[in-house]
Amino acid sequence: MSLCTKIPYSNPRVAAMAMVAIADKTADTRPKVPRSVYHCARCHSWHLSSQKPKGVASRRWTMAFRT
Ligand SMILES: [Zn+2]
Repeated sequence: MSLCTKIPYSNPRVAAMAMVAIADKTADTRPKVPRSVYHCARCHSWHLSSQKPKGVASRRWTMAFRT
């Protein structure tokens, strides 16, 4: 399904790995990199967001980063 313009990831772990890779590549050249992962209700997959995670999502996010 491609209801969204964003890249769909099948699970938050895959999305987190993709985000780390993007952040790694663009750390020097782009100030705006993905910072969090969220579940999309429209396409039922996961997307990257450049907004900082908050609350519970933030804790999950930090854990995803450390594994
Ligand atoms: Zn979506």
